[in-house]
Amino acid sequence: MTVQLPPLVEPAADLSIEEVRRYSRHLIIPDVGMSGQKRLKNARVLCVGAGGLGSPALMYLAAAGVGTLGIVEFDVVDESNLQRQIIHGASDVGRSKAESARDTIKEINPLIEVVLHEVRLDSSNVMELFAAYDLIVDGTDNFATRYLVNDACVLLNMPYVWGSIYRFDGQASVFWSEYGPCYRCLYPEPPPPGMVPSCAEGGVLGVLCASIGSIQVTEAIKLLTGIGDPLVGRLMVYDALEMTYRQVKIRKDPNCAICGPNATVTELIDYDAFCGTISEAAADAAMGSTISVFDLKKMMDERERGERDFFLVDVREPHEHEIVSIDGAVLIPKGEFLDGSALAQLPQDKPIVLFCKVGGRSAEALAVVKGAGFNDAIHVGGGILAWVDKIETDKPWY
Ligand SMILES: [Zn+2]
Repeated sequence: MTVQLPPLVEPAADLSIEEVRRYSRHLIIPDVGMSGQKRLKNARVLCVGAGGLGSPALMYLAAAGVGTLGIVEFDVVDESNLQRQIIHGASDVGRSKAESARDTIKEINPLIEVVLHEVRLDSSNVMELFAAYDLIVDGTDNFATRYLVNDACVLLNMPYVWGSIYRFDGQASVFWSEYGPCYRCLYPEPPPPGMVPSCAEGGVLGVLCASIGSIQVTEAIKLLTGIGDPLVGRLMVYDALEMTYRQVKIRKDPNCAICGPNATVTELIDYDAFCGTISEAAADAAMGSTISVFDLKKMMDERERGERDFFLVDVREPHEHEIVSIDGAVLIPKGEFLDGSALAQLPQDKPIVLFCKVGGRSAEALAVVKGAGFNDAIHVGGGILAWVDKIETDKPWY
């Protein structure tokens, strides 16, 4: 299942004497040689994130002689990063991660260019940023950015090397929609918010970053120089406890929303909304005011028996409400909460219960409702998808 791809980068004109000395162990590998090293010199690689995966990735890409390394990172170094983010040191705590990473890279290899992008990657800046590079290395730890990176790369027809880590498990692949599947082919939908804990919540074995980051760098070098079989259409699954690397074949999904023939995503979308990422205000509002679908079912049964009353609001969009809803729910889309017009439609004499698809939008609306003085308002964790999954299982799912 060899996928032979052309090198991503043309060779630079020549190597200096200093470069020949520095890269001699590459130059004597026949597959790399002078031409491969010149390609690396000409290469522009952008690493999204200078954290767990970005640390080893940037350090080895720098040592390998990748001529221009970009870093997208706006965070600062925290003490809890040092357990795995080895590009930063104890004296960097409190410093900009981008600057700290640049200093380490310059110490490893002063012959290369480092470009810092100290911004939060979003739909407004990603296309311009990515277009200036040959290859993207994705070292992000959240779903909104992963889908953003994927969609931008598909739209720009660029390859990228993806990696992910959690506790003792890691995964890596190369996504290039021209030659194989994309991230959405593998994971069409993000998990419901709160379902998959982040490394901050669930922990990660520090050295796992090196295991997966080194696969990412290996694949980057292969793509840039055009050697070997790239990890296109294959997912590497690493289990540190079993000490196994397993390969899973992945195929292009003919129904993929962005790289399929009938793609519905033709431009960048709102990735926070897509992934149900919630703001700090929403998280605060939801704290202690989130009920389960089982709680809601119990409340509905009690209302049926006349033992209590409440006002159930579906904060999704009308087309979603049409697909599936909960009996008796009133539709007031989230936008009407954000612009304040929803408040006049809410009764003062009974508790407000909000729900959406998975719980992100209802938490945002809850923050508005509570802010307006409806202190006993609550929302349904997991939203209607959890409702259909657990309570009314014969209802449709979308
Ligand atoms: Zn796809």
